[in-house]
Order: sequence, then C-alpha cells, then structure tokens
Amino acid sequence: VLVVRHRMRSSGRWSRVAAVIKELEDRAATPIGKLRQVADAMTVEMHAGLASEGGSKLKMLISYVDNLPTGDEAGLFYALDLGGTNFRVLRVQLGGKEKRVVKQEFEEVSIPPHLMVGGSDELFDFIASALAKFVASEGDDFHLPVDRQRELGFTFSFPVRQTSIASGTLIKWTKGFNIDSTVGEDVVAELTRAMERQGLDMRVSALVNDTIGTLAGGRYYDRDVVAAVILGTGTNAAYVERANAIPKWHGLLPKSGEMVINMEWGNFRSSHLPITDYDRALDVESLNPGEQIFEKLISGMYLGEILRRVLLKLATETALFGDTVPPKLETPFILRTPAMSVMHHDNSPDLREVGNKLKELLGIPNTSLKTRKVVVQICDIIAKRGAHLAAAGIVGILKKIGRDAPPKDVSKLPRTAIAMDGGLYEHYTIFSDCLQSTLKEMLGPEASTAIVIKLANDGSGIGASLLAASHSQHLVLGES
Ligand code: BGC
Ligand code: MG
Repeated sequence: VLVVRHRMRSSGRWSRVAAVIKELEDRAATPIGKLRQVADAMTVEMHAGLASEGGSKLKMLISYVDNLPTGDEAGLFYALDLGGTNFRVLRVQLGGKEKRVVKQEFEEVSIPPHLMVGGSDELFDFIASALAKFVASEGDDFHLPVDRQRELGFTFSFPVRQTSIASGTLIKWTKGFNIDSTVGEDVVAELTRAMERQGLDMRVSALVNDTIGTLAGGRYYDRDVVAAVILGTGTNAAYVERANAIPKWHGLLPKSGEMVINMEWGNFRSSHLPITDYDRALDVESLNPGEQIFEKLISGMYLGEILRRVLLKLATETALFGDTVPPKLETPFILRTPAMSVMHHDNSPDLREVGNKLKELLGIPNTSLKTRKVVVQICDIIAKRGAHLAAAGIVGILKKIGRDAPPKDVSKLPRTAIAMDGGLYEHYTIFSDCLQSTLKEMLGPEASTAIVIKLANDGSGIGASLLAASHSQHLVLGES
C-alpha cells in the first residue's frame, strides 16, 4: 500500500485537486477550432490512405463490397459476428423485396478472456463449435433448397487486408485480442478449417468488417445510408467511395462505380489530437503500443481506464481518497466504461451511485460529496473529449464525400444517413448527446438538418447475411 507522503491540510488538498483537474482540462481541451483541424486532418489522411498502400496511418481498406443490399436478397443465410467481448451467431430467412426479413434468430456467446490471448486454433474452434450447435438447432421454419450448402457472412471486426469478398488476412489484432499466430493468416481459411474440424458443412460467402456489415444493414432499410460508424469497445467507420477516387485500386472498375471503404479510423493519428500524459501512459502499457491512438481517446474499452488513471494520480498526489491509495485503483481496467457511465449519469443530490461504484469497484468506503463531484467532473472531461473527436471524425468523412455543407441551392440538399452501432453510443447518453450537438455545431444549422444518425442495433449481423446472400454461390435473386 502506497502511503501518501505529505499529509495535506484540507484546503491545500483541494487546491492541488483543482490544479490536477485544470491541467487535464487544458491538455484534453477540444475547442471548436481544434475539432475543425481534426476533421480536416481526417479528410487529408483519407485521401492519403486511398492514394497508396501505406500512404497513411488510415489504412482505408478496400472491402470488395461494390454493391450494397437492394432488398432483393432471398434465402436462408447465417452470420457470425466476432469483434468485442461477445460473439453472435445469427440465421435469417430473407424473402426478397416483398417479404424482406421473414424470420431471424440469434444467439450471443461471451468469449472466455483466455481465448482472446491464446492460440488461433483454440479461438476458432470455440467459435466454430458454438456455430455448429446453433446450426443444429435450425427449425422447420427456415428453408434451404435440398443439396444446398449453408452459407455464412462472417463479420470480423479487426483490420483485414481483403483479397476478395470472401478472403483476407489479419493485419493486426485490436481491442483486447492478441493472438500472434493469426496475424498474416487468412481468417476465412482459419474459420473454414475450424468448421471442418467440427464437421460443419458451411461456406463463408462474405467476410466483412462490422462497419461494412452495419453499412449494408443500414442501407437495406434506408437508401440514404452512405456511411457507418461503430462506437463500442473499439471504434471505426466505413463509407461509400467513388471507385475512381481510389488511386491505389488497380482492379476493374466496378459497374456500380462505387466501393465501400473500411477506414480503420481507430488508427488515425494527428498532431492536432489532444493527448495527455494519461493517454501516453495508457498507450505505452497497452497490448498494442503506438497503435489505435484515436480509438484509445474515444472508445468504450479505454474511457474507463483513462478515468482510473486520473483518479490514481489524484489519489497519490492529492490524497483525494484519504491518506492511503486504494490498492484496487492500481489495477488496470478495473474501472470499465459502463461503470463510468453510471457515475456520470448520476442525478441524485448526494451522488449516491458514484459513492456506490467507488465502494463496490475500488473498495473506497466513504466518500464526501465534494470527492464524488470531482469524479463526475473527470468523467465529463474524458467522455466529452471522446464524443467531440468522434464528431470531428464524422465531419471529416462528410467533407470527403461533399456532404458537409449545403449546395448553392439549399433546396437540393441531399439527405445523408449514417448507420451507427456500438454500446458506447447506445448506452452512454451523455456521450451520444454530446456527439450529436457537436455535429450540429460543426456543420451549421442548414447542413445538419440533412444529416441523420440512425442507431442500427446490431445491424452488422443482418448486414453480413445480406452480403452473403448477394455474394452467394447459388446466386438467384428474387428466389425464396
Ligand atoms: C477494429 C475495427 C472495428 C472497430 C469496431 C477496431 O478496434 O480495428 O476493425 O471496426 O474496432 O469494432
Ligand atoms: Mg459489434
């Protein structure tokens, strides 16, 4: 137990606390001018990443999706979604234009943490075995023509260099995953071998990032969806680009003239980002130092951990929680973003929820109202910085596709929809409200009325199955 060296007189302590907060506020500040610089830098990096392979920290990955769902997709398809702490399996009976989604069923399985940092085969065996069980439970109300192999849309929410719509090699793991033997391997081949080991006869027809799945699912319900953003454990965005605006693409120009791009914006970096010493330390001690810097400022995996680091500093340097540093506060990732969100949304006069969380999670028994207020203030700084930066990222995309400002004739302003998914956006209301108001502020009243964010709760599963349908080996559109 670390003993706080100087017993501070109470008045001196609070001025030290105020100084630490002030410094955090200054370093983490995101005034509108800075956000505009971030948005501009995002646009610039998008161009650079499209120009050449390795041209930018933004990988701007080609998804091989050059046609988004139309509604004509038909048949029975499966989807598997691997990316966060849970993975999902889904089956859906698509009925074409008239009937659309006839029936769907899904199951969610949590991934044992040791599998996230173990061997490749162990992880894929686990997934394939859950999938095999799920397939075995298929009821009579799902229909597959005889002798036809089941097909799967595989949502794999990590950076993948695709070699076709249904193959691609893992560039690196992100979030809590770290399995060396998968890096550089074709993840479809890995999954296919694991399915064979399970005796499961199934073909992967589409390999998609969750942003791509969300974009596809979003487009199925709303023709104006042109981009997708994930704000969950990790963060990322995808959008529809003109194929002839992708210099690094040397393949045939698709008939549609379009190509969906997985930006991998979590890896965005810019000198304009407001990075504090807490962020630097978090990065250095992370599973992927130097990588995913934008993600580490924004996403759900990290916000609670930044909060913990600030509280630890306050505990050691200002004795915020008394003369000793609460030992649990020294445990990385003990404060998770959902708990931070609960504290941040506490509206009770005595901040009871804050007191409860501090006790429950950090073993700090009695906290004064003043102390609890400090905690909420830190939550506010960290969450709003993240929301501001995410909004700036979205503005960067809108600029790239020319939807950030009203055209000369304002009546011709096209409606622009962005499909959004992820627990951070869905559950952390202060975060999502702040993101929306920042978007409005940055875009101005006219343009912002034309921009809609649509929450697509787990739209990536449906999206992946739709893409599996449109890339089916038995492509008969309109058939049911
Ligand atoms: C991954 C992306 C993914 C995002 C959201 C990031 O860590 O690199 O591929 O889309 O998380 O799940
Ligand atoms: Mg997800």
